[in-house]
Amino acid sequence: MRPSVSITEPGATLHPHYNPAAPRTLGAAFRLFARQPSPRRLMVGAALALLWRFYLGLPGWADLALAAGIVIYWPLQEWAVHRYLLHMKPVTVRGRSVLPIQVRNHQLHHRDPWRLDVLFIYKGAFKYALPVIVGLFWLLTRDWPLTATGVGAYLLVLLRYEWTHYLTHTPYQPRSRWYRKRYLNHRRHHFLDEQRMFGVTALVMDKALGTAGSKLRRPAD
Ligand SMILES: [Zn+2]
Ligand SMILES: [Zn+2]
Repeated sequence: MRPSVSITEPGATLHPHYNPAAPRTLGAAFRLFARQPSPRRLMVGAALALLWRFYLGLPGWADLALAAGIVIYWPLQEWAVHRYLLHMKPVTVRGRSVLPIQVRNHQLHHRDPWRLDVLFIYKGAFKYALPVIVGLFWLLTRDWPLTATGVGAYLLVLLRYEWTHYLTHTPYQPRSRWYRKRYLNHRRHHFLDEQRMFGVTALVMDKALGTAGSKLRRPAD
C-alpha cells in the first residue's frame, strides 16, 4: 500500500484510502480546487476579462450571443481535444518519440487517476494559450468589448470543465442526476474503456460521434 501523502504536497493523491485528507464534501473539494495552479489562473483570468468588459461599457445582446455560442461550441472542443490530442500516439522526430507535456500528463493521469498534480491543465500552457485566446477572439469579432466578453466566457467554461473533471476524481459523492451521469461517464472512461466516453461536462458529442457507453459489459465504477 502507498503511504499517505499530505494533500498539499506535489504528487498528492485524492484516493481516500491512501489519503484520508482527500475532500469528501463540496466545500472541502472547492477549497482544495481553488489552490491549484490551473483553476487559480482561470479564476483570475476570467475575473480580469470581465472587469475589462465592464470598464469598456455595459454588455449587450451581442455579448450574450457570443457567450451562448461558446457554451454551444464547447462540447466539440472538449471531445476533440480529449479524443485526438490527449490520447494521441507519440510522434517520431529524428528517431525519438515526442509527446507534448499535456499529453504526457494525461497518460500519467490515466496511470494514477488520483494524483492531483497531473489532473489539471498544465500550468505552463497558459503562457502561450492566453495570448492566443485573446488574439482569436479579436480576429473573430474585431471589437475589444466583445473580445473581453469572449475571453471571460471561454475561461469560465474552461473553469467549469476543470471543476467537473476534478470532482469526478475526489471521494465526494454526487447528488444531482446531472452530475452523477458525468461522474459515472468519466469514471468509466478511466476504469472501463479509455478509447470511449471522452465527454466530461457534455456527453452529447460521444452520442453524436459513436463513442458513448462501452461495448464491455460490466462497469467498474
Ligand atoms: Zn480524469
Ligand atoms: Zn482520457
